Amino acid sequence: MILYNTLGNKKEEFTPHFEGKVNMYTCGPTVYHYAHIGNLRTYIMEDVLEKYLRYIGYDVKRVMNITDVGHLSSDADTGEDKMLAGAKREHKSVLEIADFYTKAFFEDCKKLNIKMPDVVEPATHCIPEFIQMVDALLKKGYAYCAGGNVYFDTSKLNEYYVFGNQSQEDLAVGVREDVDEDENKRNKTDFVLWFTKSKFEDQELKWESPWGYGYPGWHIECSAISIKHNGEYLDLHCGGVDNAFPHHTNEIAQSEAYLGHSWCNHWFHVTHLLDARGKMSKSKGDFLTVSLLEEKGYNPLVYRMFCLQSHYRKPLTFSYENLDNTAKAYNKLINKISSLNPVGQADTEEATPFIEKFKANMDNDLNTSLGITAVYDVLKAEISDATKIYLLDNFDKVLGLDLINAAKNLKESANAEVDSQKIQELIDKRLEAKKNKDWETADAIRNRLTAMGISIKDTKDGTTWTLN
Ligand code: AMP
Ligand code: ZN
Repeated sequence: MILYNTLGNKKEEFTPHFEGKVNMYTCGPTVYHYAHIGNLRTYIMEDVLEKYLRYIGYDVKRVMNITDVGHLSSDADTGEDKMLAGAKREHKSVLEIADFYTKAFFEDCKKLNIKMPDVVEPATHCIPEFIQMVDALLKKGYAYCAGGNVYFDTSKLNEYYVFGNQSQEDLAVGVREDVDEDENKRNKTDFVLWFTKSKFEDQELKWESPWGYGYPGWHIECSAISIKHNGEYLDLHCGGVDNAFPHHTNEIAQSEAYLGHSWCNHWFHVTHLLDARGKMSKSKGDFLTVSLLEEKGYNPLVYRMFCLQSHYRKPLTFSYENLDNTAKAYNKLINKISSLNPVGQADTEEATPFIEKFKANMDNDLNTSLGITAVYDVLKAEISDATKIYLLDNFDKVLGLDLINAAKNLKESANAEVDSQKIQELIDKRLEAKKNKDWETADAIRNRLTAMGISIKDTKDGTTWTLN
């Protein structure tokens, strides 16, 4: 598979460290609020990537952290503590907030057909691993203590800006000279591995450590959790594009310093979802969630299709008008599939070129919009309905649009409507028979309805029926 790699900034053949096996890591959500549909764009595209890797035969192990401690509002360790701000907003404890929004996140994922990662690890469950890693970095000379905190010393690296083409705006996050600047840092790009001198007097979660009572920095959690579950060699690390700097840059710095060898070969970054005001972000407050889309009557899978229609490296602008167009396309698609009438076996030989075409599209840097085109091509093709269903089911293992099930449900509800029409016809006939004092026919119709599982009740306003 050809996949764009942010490390090197070019498309290249994706090659895992061990043949046939992919160790994949995904930066999980910071659980101080609901995930917005921008965050979920990233998780949808990562899900498609994971499913596609499995589809082409890889044995994938996907690990995700849950950030429930250490993430400040600026990724460069300045600003407010996100979890603490969430807890204050809702007058709850940090762990209550974390628990509530972690569950909400996975409920959203389920609605969007995003598979649960193989391992999900909250940062607060890995404090010993963080301490061990920070300790090793200090012993190796890559870290220093200052003002009560432990910092990673970026000047010890030959190359710190590994991703190369960061925008000035991105870089500014790490080096900006605002009032919040931490004077303990020896270099502007140094970052906190362990805080003991928290500027938040009411910091709730703290642990004993060799450097004092405190809590981990944000970046250390992904390195330690990944090494714990994926081992020393990571094949694929994913996140939204804002994670590339400083978060992923810092992850690489500390992981490679700790391991003493290169760590992750391939970096997959999803470009942001935008709204009319620019990048969608949790701190803007009134952001869009899956529940809000549902309240407005949208099937969450319509949002999944909306994301799949565009390439993951292109900015995607959300508008209800665009979503409405996708909703129409999705409903039309499901309608069309529900009209198929598969009889007999699928012809797998006939199916092969369609599968090859689908794979060629997805192999080309996960071109999901052409992946969806492959679905339309199948529907238009001169092949049997059984083969069509076979192919759609096959593609949907990756696309996750619930194509076959949704079509089946649509068909069943259409059948149910026909049935209720039929029941009404029988009831009308029985009334007619009763009017004509044709008791034999009336009884025969009642017996037939009973056999269909229908109970009828004659009232002064007419006959009502219920399903037993
Ligand atoms: P957070 O919960 O803020 O740590 O973010 C969770 C994931 O969503 C990270 O991978 C971010 O890079 C990603 N993300 C944040 N904002 C957006 C956005 N507007 N569009 C796409 N992905 C985003
Ligand atoms: Zn991370």
